[in-house]
Formats: sequence, C-alpha cells, structure tokens
Amino acid sequence: MPTIWSNLLNLFFPNACKICGRPLIEGEEQICLECLCDLPHTGYHKQAGNPVEQLFTGKNKIEYATAYLRYEKGGKVQSLVHSLKYHENKELGYLLGRQIARELNADHSPICTADLIIPVPLHPRKKRKRGYNQSEWIASGIRSILEIPIDTQSLARVTPTSSQTHKTIYERWLNVYSIFNVVSSENLKNKHILLIDDVITTGATISACAQALSEIPGIRISVLALSVA
Ligand SMILES: [Zn+2]
Repeated sequence: MPTIWSNLLNLFFPNACKICGRPLIEGEEQICLECLCDLPHTGYHKQAGNPVEQLFTGKNKIEYATAYLRYEKGGKVQSLVHSLKYHENKELGYLLGRQIARELNADHSPICTADLIIPVPLHPRKKRKRGYNQSEWIASGIRSILEIPIDTQSLARVTPTSSQTHKTIYERWLNVYSIFNVVSSENLKNKHILLIDDVITTGATISACAQALSEIPGIRISVLALSVA
C-alpha cells in the first residue's frame, strides 16, 4: 500500500519501490521484484473464454482478450493506475507494458501475433489537458519488446464522454457508442489489431472501438488491458 510512510521514503530515496518504498536494487525500475511478483496477476491470457473475453460475448467479434492485473479499489493496482494517469508517471506505463509483453511472449500468447497496436484514443481536449495518453505509453512498452508498430492516427475519439460515475451500466453503454471514428482504414485492412487500454470496467469503451473498426474489410481485433476491475 502506498502509505504516507512510503511517500516519505520516495521523497528522500527517489529510487525507492513505488509500492513498498524499499530502495530498488540494480535491474529494478520503479517497482521492486518482490512487489512485481506480488501484484494480483489475472493469468487470463492462459485461459480461453476468460472473464475479459466474456465481456464482449454477443457484442463484438474479438479474437483474444486479456487484462494483466486485477484492479481493486484501494489496492496496489489502483495506486499504480493513479500514478500513471494523474501524476504524469508515463514511464510506469512503459515499464508495465514491457513486463506484460515479456510474460505474454514467454507464454506464447496468440496476442503477440498482432500486426498493429492501437491504444484507445483519448478525446483531443482530454489529451491536451493531461499532456499524454497513458495507453500510448503502455503500448510503447509493449512495442519495445514485441516490435509491433503502433497506430495513433487511424482511430479517433470524436466525442468526449461525460462522467460515468452516476450512470447505470446500460446508460454507460449508450454513452460510449459512436464516440470513436475511423479516420482512415487504409492501414487497417486485413490486419490483426491489438487494442490497448489501462482499465477495463464494463468493457463498453473497448466495445465502442471494436464497433467502429468492425466495418473494415478483413480486420481482426484483440484486446489487452493493463487491468480489469
Ligand atoms: Zn516493493
């Protein structure tokens, strides 16, 4: 847990683990090996028909879907995601992307056979405000290991989503439909696309992306998220 104590430690020892606060040793970056092993891994990439794939059943044609970690309120993964999204810790997205790719690769996951990575786009206004798209940083970590190119041009977010907090699940689904637009399909025809997101909750955002892409001839879509709530 990122306690006041570990925050204090980080202040005096910037090379301390983001989770437990202990000083990092050589080869460790941001998270110590012990904490990295200790994170709640889902192992879903080794499980056909896993709960992430089930989110899209009857909604989209998805080849493979998985999420690396289990997201729990108040848990370690929440603080990692928070650091990635709100504290400009882009590097953490990159490092976790690398770690995910190493594990998928070691387990010969079919996700590694994707031709092209598309990070879920942010609305331009939101991206300007945050200064970066956290999913692009996860994607670039993945690219550095799997050498799959990233496309941030072909798919765009055309409408910003309003806050999801007070909406029912059904309203959330309505809210995210038709918010993505294919800008150009040239680069995507007959490709196996890997969509990247930070947190999957209902799956509605990914579903809206997949919906927008589904008209492209010969396209196949897989999904990889850093975490699933
Ligand atoms: Zn640690």
